[in-house]
Amino acid sequence: MMKKFITCLIFLIMLFGAIFGLYYYLFLYNNCHVPIKYSVDNVDSRFKITKNEVAEITLMAGTNWNARTSDNLFVYDENSNLKINLVYDRRQEEVDKMNNDVKTLTNSRTTIDNFAQEYDALLTSYVQDLSAYNQEVDDWSSKGGAPPDVYARLQKEKADIESRRVILIDMARTLNLQTQTFNNNLDSLKNEVDKRKNIIVTQGLYDSTSNSITIYTFGNEDELKLVLMHELGHSLGLGHAQNMTSIMFELLDQQDLKNPTLTSEDIALLQNQCHLNYRSFPILDRLIKRFEFDTPSHHYSFSQNQ
Ligand SMILES: [Zn+2]
Repeated sequence: MMKKFITCLIFLIMLFGAIFGLYYYLFLYNNCHVPIKYSVDNVDSRFKITKNEVAEITLMAGTNWNARTSDNLFVYDENSNLKINLVYDRRQEEVDKMNNDVKTLTNSRTTIDNFAQEYDALLTSYVQDLSAYNQEVDDWSSKGGAPPDVYARLQKEKADIESRRVILIDMARTLNLQTQTFNNNLDSLKNEVDKRKNIIVTQGLYDSTSNSITIYTFGNEDELKLVLMHELGHSLGLGHAQNMTSIMFELLDQQDLKNPTLTSEDIALLQNQCHLNYRSFPILDRLIKRFEFDTPSHHYSFSQNQ
């Protein structure tokens, strides 16, 4: 009888233990307790960014996810399974072409502005000299004519003013042509930008099967950081958010590029996936940490994370 009771009791304890264990694992256990290890694998040189620079930007992107936790959610490890690659194709080629066009256009605008300034200065002095010349001619005419030496000087001045007028006309023509070309180029660039507005381009991709993040295109380093932050979010298991300002929104939209921060929606997704608030089982944590620490490729030390 007693033996049966004890057997029953042990069974019940085990059953409750199993149920609680399952409940803890599903709802309370901090799923993101062990940092995701990543490394930068291939960076196409045409992106004009080094592997180290990409690693630094990824580090910042990963740190931004840590905003609400004391743990590192991501850690760099050359032997990691999660690889980050920058693959250059038509997408970045188009961005580079556009950036180049903008640069060329900006340069030609500077050249035109400088030329226009030079033209304005020459025109001003021409108008002043012409008016002084006319004034002097009028003065001598009212006196009945100029003496021969003055007449000779005035003739020379007249020829000089005339040649300056010819140069100014030529400059004005060139300036008009340059301005026209600039405006045409600006219009076609604007058209190009407008056309691209309606095209959705995949900038980055997290592939859970191959456990890789592939970046295809970005306009600048801030944009790269945001795209990496988004893909790292997917690697944590997060899905897409609805708010256009959220990091996990499916498009690069109204997020703060300069200072990308998690919105309450991003934090909710993170909490839902990771259960970051529940860390109330120090013994279990300790066991998990010790186990992790013993694996050779682990980067953080046991003592630092207590
Ligand atoms: Zn996505």
